[in-house]
Amino acid sequence: MRIQHKFRNMYNGLCRFLYGFCGVDEIKRHTQVVYEMRAKLVEKLFQITHGQELFDLYSKGQFQPRKQLRFEVNLTDHCNLNCIGCMHFSPIAPKYFINIERFKLDCECLSKLSGGKCDQIQLMGGEPLLHPSLDTICVIVRNCFPQGKIQIVTYGVLLLQEPSSFWEILHNYHIEIIISSYPVGVNYTEIKKIAEAMKVKLILRGNANNRKQFKTPLDLEGKQNKTKSFYKCHRPNNCPNLRNGKVFPCPIVAYIDIFNDYFKKNLKVSRHDYINIYKIKSMDQISSFLCKPIPFCRYCNNDANEYDIDFSISKKEISEWI
Ligand code: SF4
Ligand code: SF4
Repeated sequence: MRIQHKFRNMYNGLCRFLYGFCGVDEIKRHTQVVYEMRAKLVEKLFQITHGQELFDLYSKGQFQPRKQLRFEVNLTDHCNLNCIGCMHFSPIAPKYFINIERFKLDCECLSKLSGGKCDQIQLMGGEPLLHPSLDTICVIVRNCFPQGKIQIVTYGVLLLQEPSSFWEILHNYHIEIIISSYPVGVNYTEIKKIAEAMKVKLILRGNANNRKQFKTPLDLEGKQNKTKSFYKCHRPNNCPNLRNGKVFPCPIVAYIDIFNDYFKKNLKVSRHDYINIYKIKSMDQISSFLCKPIPFCRYCNNDANEYDIDFSISKKEISEWI
């Protein structure tokens, strides 16, 4: 136990140093240097502990169960940008719009479990602004979660076409916008002006002129060590995804059916890869589920992650994902 404690402190110290070095900033801390250092550290710890004690070590350190609910949700699967290697598989996704009634039930269920409080809910896709009932969805989510951050994550191009009633809803229901910037000529200055005038918080992420894509190659045969893969991954406990009454630890497992259908593959999702929100009694069950490796992690080759892929439009080739 004392050795575990020592390793945990060492790990947390290293992370603090690296995050400090990078500016202690949510975006900057997710940089290649931190990912790579973490992967190396996991590899070392794995050798020392033979994998036996890693789970305890990390679940008590890196992967603390969150006290409040956090999730992302695809309002649409398809997108009008179609970036190379999109890890929501949008370029190869058929048209899909979330069913509002179904989504409302899911929100009500999660609201009961969480007491109406959330840490962060991100409405995304695909491109969420393609959903024709985005206004209604915003109202549903805020009514279910009166407390906490609700954000729309978009690449922004459709914001300039939105009527003022849309911006009023965002203002009245305290919903923020995050723009992921891409080099596709979106007029961010104009969007910022509108957001300011309508008193809506807008966060611009990334550098459109130096956009890099990130790839976790999929191992089609699922031969990776799931525990190692999980601990090297930046997604667990960061980006759980809600899909039809189930919470998955990441978008890859949540939307792998899109990849399987398009490329005729069979990366299997089992009932241990998600938590069914209608079959649990407390938020803690979700929080602790999200801190543990899932069987599906065997399909992610986190040793071969690529961080520096130049932005381009997807050619819908399987090499973008493997
Ligand atoms: S903008 Fe986002 S959702 Fe759309 S294709 Fe690019 S990465 Fe995927
Ligand atoms: S399946 Fe596991 S290893 Fe793969 S991205 Fe999701 S959390 Fe990470």
